[in-house]
Amino acid sequence: MSDLLLLSGGIESSAIAAWLRPSLCLTIDYGQLASQAEITSAAQICKELKLKHLVRKADTTQFGSGDMLNRKGSVHSENSEFWPFRNQLLITLGAMIAMQHDCARILIGTVVTDLRHKDGTKDFIVAMNKLLIIQEGKLNLSAPGIELTSIELIHKSKISTGTLGWCHSCHMSNFACGQCRGCFKHSEIMRTLGYER
Ligand SMILES: [Zn+2]
Repeated sequence: MSDLLLLSGGIESSAIAAWLRPSLCLTIDYGQLASQAEITSAAQICKELKLKHLVRKADTTQFGSGDMLNRKGSVHSENSEFWPFRNQLLITLGAMIAMQHDCARILIGTVVTDLRHKDGTKDFIVAMNKLLIIQEGKLNLSAPGIELTSIELIHKSKISTGTLGWCHSCHMSNFACGQCRGCFKHSEIMRTLGYER
């Protein structure tokens, strides 16, 4: 099956790239503050893994909120990085590109700890998959890491330390700010793997 991976250049989607080697990796600049770093990271990761990479732009800054735009969060979530319907949006944009490139399945880097957001739950993946299947193209959605922690996914993927070193996780900036949820999580993972103290 030909797969399109939504590749943000973060740890989880990069691990899935190394693990499942999708036919196409897509990075979307949807207006998030860290878009340039995400594109650079994703491009380098695809180069290392010898995977096809595509970058597309859809400016949705007028629609979002939270850390990724350095705006205040939403009353609907206690998480400062919350951007309403973000995964739904990215999957939809990814599905449009998947149709153009004859990809039958979309892969997303959701892991078990992402359930702090409703669009990071198994229920969401199942519902979104169903929504895609009933439409033209009958695309599938899969989150291969949904039962795994980030560390388990990294081990399973056998991603090299060199490739992992290119990942960008900061939500706020093109340079790791060290202060956001993305940076905290990145540091925690690197510490667990023994790369950082
Ligand atoms: Zn940060």
